[in-house]
Amino acid sequence: MRECIVSILRQQWPRLLGLAAVIAASIAVSIAPPLVLQRAVDGLASGNIAPDALLLLGVLYFALCTVSGLIDTGRETLITVLGQKITHGVRSAMCRRLGRLPASYFVAQEPGQVTSLFVNDVDTLENLFDSGIVSMFADAFTIVSILAVVSHLSPGLGVLLLLCLPLLFLLTRYFQRRMLQAQLDNRRAIAKTNALIPETVANIRTIHLCQQEGYMHTRYLRAIRQSFAAMERSNFCDSIYSPIILTSGTAIICLMMALSVTSGTLQEFFGMTVGSVVALIAYVRRIFTPLEAIGMEIQSIQSAVAGIRRLQDFFALPLMPEVPKKRADEKAAASSKLPPLVIEDLAFGYGEEPDLFSHLSLTIREGEHVTLTGRTGIGKSTLFKLVLGFYAPRAGSIRIAGLAPAEIAERDRRRLIGCVWQEFCPVRGGIREQVTLGDPGISDEEVRQALALTGLLSLCQSLPQGLATPLKDAGFSQGQLQLLGIARAIVKHPRLLLLDEITASLDAATEKQVLAALKRAAQDRAVLSISHRLYETTGGRLLELRRP
Ligand code: ATP
Ligand code: MG
Repeated sequence: MRECIVSILRQQWPRLLGLAAVIAASIAVSIAPPLVLQRAVDGLASGNIAPDALLLLGVLYFALCTVSGLIDTGRETLITVLGQKITHGVRSAMCRRLGRLPASYFVAQEPGQVTSLFVNDVDTLENLFDSGIVSMFADAFTIVSILAVVSHLSPGLGVLLLLCLPLLFLLTRYFQRRMLQAQLDNRRAIAKTNALIPETVANIRTIHLCQQEGYMHTRYLRAIRQSFAAMERSNFCDSIYSPIILTSGTAIICLMMALSVTSGTLQEFFGMTVGSVVALIAYVRRIFTPLEAIGMEIQSIQSAVAGIRRLQDFFALPLMPEVPKKRADEKAAASSKLPPLVIEDLAFGYGEEPDLFSHLSLTIREGEHVTLTGRTGIGKSTLFKLVLGFYAPRAGSIRIAGLAPAEIAERDRRRLIGCVWQEFCPVRGGIREQVTLGDPGISDEEVRQALALTGLLSLCQSLPQGLATPLKDAGFSQGQLQLLGIARAIVKHPRLLLLDEITASLDAATEKQVLAALKRAAQDRAVLSISHRLYETTGGRLLELRRP
């Protein structure tokens, strides 16, 4: 992961340089206005300043404030753009790795875990960059610069601030931690209340029947009270923090003034002129903003650590070796020299498990139908996963039109293998997209032909928007969805068709319809299926899998 981020930062070096320059300019410009104020006030107090010069100082003061705002906008824009460049680069690198991870990685994940890694954890990386590291550096430099200017104007106040700042920083962190804890407690309490609602709705009859309304009421009340107490704590901290900080700032200035009037030496040490007092008051106020921000930035960095660790783990996962892709030999395929499926002496087992099958050999030629049988858990679906290249065999080989599954180029996949599963998996979009899966190389005519073969065409054409009708508006039955799945599998005329118990969830009448469609679709193709009925319908061969 480090190499990935370093290479992105290397590509972005002009923007990084620009950011460093803008941060330096922003600090310099934000420090200048109180100095202009000091000049103006000192000039007024001594009475020897020309009105034009005073006007000029006034204009300069407002101009500096405006430029400071503009530079800050530029700084935020650059930080955001750089942050997005980093997340885009990291996500792209992750996508490239995702395609080379073994199927066992995806099987081991909880649903949504990969999405959360791509969305939330990469976002924390962006937060770490823009609301964490960069802002923290900028704020730390702002504090140091203010301290330097204050020490130059009033060495005494510089010393006072140096003594007080660590204490004020600790105080700020204390309040921020308490507020964060209170907000987390509140979120937990809200989540508890939200979880109670579906539980209540699902069990509402049982609750009434057993007269447990009081019990549920107490549980709601407890969660709501917890949320209320947490909000109270958060609001309390919020309301007393600002007055404490303002009072501390004022107390420091009062102390400085009190000390400077006690003796001439101290007055010199504190550098008291009317103008410098005005400038110093402004600086003392300004130093608290970056101080408070650093506390929040430390918090963002801490919360990003867990996400970064998960990303590091992802980048450390071993990848499958890259197999050079080969184009399917069209001439050989056309002359049927290479059978659509040849399995030779195949052995496979998951992880450390013993072999599910070994010495398995099978050849299926064009127009041949083979049906796998065997008791549940014997490895029928596993054989499909091997043919599709999800897993690599332990021994032996699989050749689809002469190519190992891993050698098949993306654009050849659907021309070589079509697959229908027990459940239809819908994708976003209309009927057309369900069949093409977004492949722009498939024409509407080809979609219509595939639908005609499965017997769905007239139904699809009678829909209000035809092929563009969204699937959810088409109101397809389970059987019609399976027919759509067959159309999806055959639209590119694959040489090999894999069918995994596609009629298992259908009633007898619908099953008949699907099997008739399948018979039409399977002509002149090699078919490997898991279903007894298909064997009966198409009169193919049976292959029983047994434990070795
Ligand atoms: P069924 O008729 O019930 O669909 P099947 O013959 O298709 O069964 P498979 O799904 O191929 O059986 O599973 C074969 C064996 O491999 C089972 O014992 C199953 O628990 C195991 N198995 C399946 N998938 C995995 C996996 N990803 N990791 C580890 N073991 C697995
Ligand atoms: Mg199965």
